[in-house]
Amino acid sequence: RSLFAAVELAPRDPILGLNEAFAADPRPQKVNLGVGVYYDEEGRIPLLASVKTAEEARVRQAKPRGYQPIEGPAAYTGAVQRLLFGADSPLLAEGRVVTAQGLGGTGALRIGGDLLRRIVPEATVYISDPSWENHRGIFEAAGFPVRTYRYYDPATGGVDFAGMKAALAAMAPRSIVVLHACCHNPTGADLTEAQWQEVAQTCVAGELVPFLDMAYQGFAEGIDADAAAVHHFLAAGIPFFVSSSFSKNFSLYGERVGALSIVTGSRDEAERVLSQLKRVIRTNYSNPPTHGAALVADVLASGELRAQWEEELGGMRRRIRAMREGLRQRLEAAVPGKDFSFVTEQRGMFSYTGLTPEQVERLKSEYGIYAVRSGRICIAALNARNLDYVAEAIAAVLR
Ligand code: PMP
Repeated sequence: RSLFAAVELAPRDPILGLNEAFAADPRPQKVNLGVGVYYDEEGRIPLLASVKTAEEARVRQAKPRGYQPIEGPAAYTGAVQRLLFGADSPLLAEGRVVTAQGLGGTGALRIGGDLLRRIVPEATVYISDPSWENHRGIFEAAGFPVRTYRYYDPATGGVDFAGMKAALAAMAPRSIVVLHACCHNPTGADLTEAQWQEVAQTCVAGELVPFLDMAYQGFAEGIDADAAAVHHFLAAGIPFFVSSSFSKNFSLYGERVGALSIVTGSRDEAERVLSQLKRVIRTNYSNPPTHGAALVADVLASGELRAQWEEELGGMRRRIRAMREGLRQRLEAAVPGKDFSFVTEQRGMFSYTGLTPEQVERLKSEYGIYAVRSGRICIAALNARNLDYVAEAIAAVLR
């Protein structure tokens, strides 16, 4: 009998399945709104000019490819810390924060999960309802039971904040709470600054372990403004975790560049925590890859390239906002009396449209427009050429 005779076929990733169906669709007017990446006005994944310049310089230098430190090079981890916590944060001078390069945001979440499993093995992990589908899988793979907390309110297209707070208040001490720092995936519904402050206070009172997932820094309001959640947890004075990613804001998806940062109480704690984190990394993949992190570090270290990057990131942010406004206007004109303000209130690449699975199916079969079953669409996949068509189709299935 074969070793693999009893191996079951795992369920297909729903979003990758969508991409396959889209690729096979012969209709020329087809649009893929199911993706999780930023496309430019031409419908392409951009290679940022700042990244290209840094890359060309690097290729010219033709450096040897030795192993990196287990936690990644200091030029990179320091740059990550300054982006997340602010360049002049006392936290950095006090040596209280540990940062390790991760294999994308996903890898950062996973090494954070593995480390937490050594520190609080009995904890439950709570993720938002709904959340990025991989959150559950990552923390279950790390060995935790995963439950959800109230988050999205379908009635408003925003956050059910009372429900969320009640859920947080009911959690056992040392529960791990995964929070989307900005541009919530999949809903686009974010907390206000005042709500972040309340959430931070609730975590203090309940002795919870916050784990901020920052996959879209710079896509809502800007680099510093999007770090507001981080600053409210800093002010609250409790330990917390942050996973961050340069997949979107540097358009470096395939390079797998991310980081895990852990805010501790003292330099001494930080040293011990880093030593344990290095063990986790060492037994997973030993040490991280060079190229993508070097590009990010080089861009952030050069005044000129950094300014150019911020300009390019601003361009992505403004284009998304223009698409949100364009979609809202068209839907309001086509379906009078229905409130579409959520389209422009929600932030980041995604919008929860409130479309039912049947309406999503009709978009696909009648119009060749592909969206996630939940009704999530990627706003960054819209452009001047497909906006009218998409808006008309959504209006038609809503009527
Ligand atoms: N967290 C969230 C909320 C995300 O949306 C994503 C990317 N889709 C990630 C983490 C992972 O990002 P990366 O591609 O850098 O692993």
